[in-house]
Amino acid sequence: GTALLEVKNLKKYYPVKSKLSRKLLGQVKAVDGISFSIQPGEVLGLVGESGCGKSTAGCTVLRLENATSGEVWFEGQEILSMDKRMLKDIRKNMQMVFQDSYSCMNPKMTIQEIIREPLVIYKMPRREQNEKIGRLLELVGLTREQGGRYPHELSGGQRQRAGIARALALEPKLIIADEPVSALDVSIQAQIINLMADLKKELGLGYLFIAHDLSVVKHISDRIAVMYLGKIVEQCEKKELYASPLHPYTVSLLNAVPIPDPEIKKERILLEGDLPSPIDPPSGCRFHPRCSGAKECCRISEPQLREVTPGHFAACHFAGGNVSETVSEAVSEP
Ligand code: SF4
Ligand code: MG
Repeated sequence: GTALLEVKNLKKYYPVKSKLSRKLLGQVKAVDGISFSIQPGEVLGLVGESGCGKSTAGCTVLRLENATSGEVWFEGQEILSMDKRMLKDIRKNMQMVFQDSYSCMNPKMTIQEIIREPLVIYKMPRREQNEKIGRLLELVGLTREQGGRYPHELSGGQRQRAGIARALALEPKLIIADEPVSALDVSIQAQIINLMADLKKELGLGYLFIAHDLSVVKHISDRIAVMYLGKIVEQCEKKELYASPLHPYTVSLLNAVPIPDPEIKKERILLEGDLPSPIDPPSGCRFHPRCSGAKECCRISEPQLREVTPGHFAACHFAGGNVSETVSEAVSEP
C-alpha cells in the first residue's frame, strides 16, 4: 500500500555568514540527504546525539522549515512543492509534539483553550468543540478540572499530556514527536511513552519518534534509524538493531545505555570526544575521528548506506564483515 510518509533525499543546509562582513563562509549541512518511510500505524524511532540534525529533519518534513532539496510524500502527495492552501488540508493529518510543551503554550490560556485552538482554526462548530475537548482530555488521562487550569499549574508530565491532546485534536494520522520525554523525570518518561504507545494502538497512529537515547525508543518503535552529522548511518527493524547493530556508532550508543544486568560484561566502546561541527564535517566517513575501528580508507572514502543483510542498512565500509564496494575499489586503485 501507499506509505503514510516517504522522505526522499531530504537536505537542509543553512548558510554560515561572517558576523562582521556578512560574507558567506560556508554551509551547515544539518540534514544531508536522508531517506526513510513510515507505514500507516508504524513507529520509526529517529535517534542521534543533539546537533545531529534530527529535529531539523522533523521540522523540515512538516514544512515548519523550508527544505533545501528533496521530497516528502504524505499518503502519495508530495508536500514540499505543494501550495499553502493544499498544505493546510494535509497538515491536520501530521502534527508535532515538542520536547518542551510549556514553551509552546500561551501561559495566559487554559489547557482547554490551548487544545481548542486547532479546532477553531479548522472551523469546528463551537458546540462540538467542547465535547471534543472533553474526549481529548480523557484520552490522554487528564481531568476536566485540569483542563480548566493554566499550564504553570500543571506538572511537566501533565503538560506533555496536554500537548499530546492538542496534537490529537484534528485526528492526525502521523505524529512527529521531537524528544517528547527528554525534559521529564525518568519515572514520568515511562508513563508518557506508554500513553503514546496506547494511543498508537487505539488510533492507528504512525509516529516519527525523535530521541537522543536508544533506550527511550526501544519500547515504542517498530523500526529505528540512527543519525550522525546529518546522515542516517543505520536503519532496520527494532529487534535487529538491538540484537545485531552493524554501525560502530550505533554500537557505542547502545553501550552508552546502562546495562542493569551485571552478568553482561561486554566490552564497552564509549564515545570519545564531542560531535564534530557540521560546518566542517570530517572527511571520508564522518564518524572516523571517534571510531575505534577506523582504517586509513575511512578518512578518504565516504561510506554509502547499503543493505548489508536483508532489510538492514548501514553506512560503514566494514559493516557485517564484508568490505563495501567503494572501499574495495579505492583499495584496488593503483
Ligand atoms: Fe568506522 Fe570506518 Fe566504519 Fe566509519 S567506515 S564507521 S570510520 S569503520
Ligand atoms: Mg533537538
